[in-house]
Amino acid sequence: MIHYRIERHTGDDATADFAAMVDATLHDARGWTRAGFVFQQAADAPYTILLGEGPEVQQRCRPYDTYGRYSCQIGPLVAITADRWRFATPEWAGDLTTYRQMVVDHEIGHLLGLHHRDCTTPGRVAPVMLPQSTELHGCLPNPWPLPEEVARAARHDLPLAPGYESGDPRDTP
Ligand SMILES: [Zn+2]
Repeated sequence: MIHYRIERHTGDDATADFAAMVDATLHDARGWTRAGFVFQQAADAPYTILLGEGPEVQQRCRPYDTYGRYSCQIGPLVAITADRWRFATPEWAGDLTTYRQMVVDHEIGHLLGLHHRDCTTPGRVAPVMLPQSTELHGCLPNPWPLPEEVARAARHDLPLAPGYESGDPRDTP
């Protein structure tokens, strides 16, 4: 059981559905539930999924550098930069809803202990753990974990909520 709470430190209409979208993504049958994880919101949860403006995310993600743009997972925190949530990125080839699902599933993948993956088969959908915001490397945009990513997470032998790791960054484009 993964208990989490959602914090939205923005007040504009474009980010108003953040909590609903995070919840829907985490409970979607195409997502990490396939790996046997159960997600539940709770006020005193150990894990926090935060939407904030660039400078706040930059500060909360230290010592990762999010350049005021990226999102990150560090320890019990997933922090998503609000402008990415609002606009996605110029490199993103999918729609905004798909982008938002991808960011949630990518960062939660980090929270579950997964690291980045490459696009090994151009023309096929990307692993959700490929940093898709900046470069698809010939893969197609994809917000859901691939079967092999589900299988890796389903072993439940990865440390949850890993802290800072130099050289294998999870400051995600
Ligand atoms: Zn990442």
